[in-house]
Amino acid sequence: MPEQIQTHAGRVALVTGGGRGIGAAIAAMLAARGARVAVLDADAALAREAAAACGGLAERCDVTDRASVDSACAAVEAALGPVDILVNNAGISPKPGGRASPIWEMPAEEWDQVIAVNLTGCWNLARRLTPGMVARKRGWIVNMASVSGKAWTPLVGSHYSATKSALIGLTRHWAGELGPHGVLVNAICPGRIMTPMARLVAPAVNEAIIANTPLGRGGEPEEVARAACFLTGPDAGFVTGTTLDVAGGWMMT
Ligand code: NDP
Repeated sequence: MPEQIQTHAGRVALVTGGGRGIGAAIAAMLAARGARVAVLDADAALAREAAAACGGLAERCDVTDRASVDSACAAVEAALGPVDILVNNAGISPKPGGRASPIWEMPAEEWDQVIAVNLTGCWNLARRLTPGMVARKRGWIVNMASVSGKAWTPLVGSHYSATKSALIGLTRHWAGELGPHGVLVNAICPGRIMTPMARLVAPAVNEAIIANTPLGRGGEPEEVARAACFLTGPDAGFVTGTTLDVAGGWMMT
């Protein structure tokens, strides 16, 4: 059912990792609400598919590669205009053999890659796009953190929880720096959301999470997308530096 309320008309939005899962749902909902949307993904075919589904622009972009970030952002600006909304959504949660590696087994390369995608990738996009937002005194940034950035769960590895905790801190810091320049920065902490990432573990693991989720189910990507639309739309004009759980009550802190 397409969204009819054009809350995001006149805004250009860029969503990283937008080729599938939560990112694709955010891109689609922002587009349905009137934004001009760019779908960036490391996988060009996924980006094209998700962009085609919502009438957006597709760009291949590996968020860990600054040259790739620069060229994708330049292409978006040339095609759609200056970027108003940055959704730092791309993220990975490696689970070799279906479970997260404990510290004594984690390969250094796996640590480096998670830091590069989940944390430095967000910095790369924000560093590229905030000068324009500051100059125009207008912008919205949403960082996709996780409830595992606030409390411990054996579901994820220490690299993942470290990056998601860091994103919550970055959100506060950037909100402080950018607020005086008219740019709002917030984070979303999803709980268990049924995407390809959630299917990296055995079904029994997800069933155990759901058993500990007060609302008794996993979330849908669209439910996270609604939170992203709220935080980048006209109803959240005085909301910055906050983290919004979309978790059905799982891991409340
Ligand atoms: P998915 O794995 O389903 O989708 C992630 C997307 O990001 C994929 O299209 C993937 O592309 C892309 N991506 C991965 N690495 C890069 C990169 N280096 N540059 C650009 N794009 C990249 O994940 P979800 O939709 O489930 O998760 C989205 C976000 O939400 C993540 O930040 C995740 O940590 C967070 N989250 C998810 C939860 C869940 O339960 N699903 C819970 C809490 C947080 P490719 O196919 O090429 O890898």
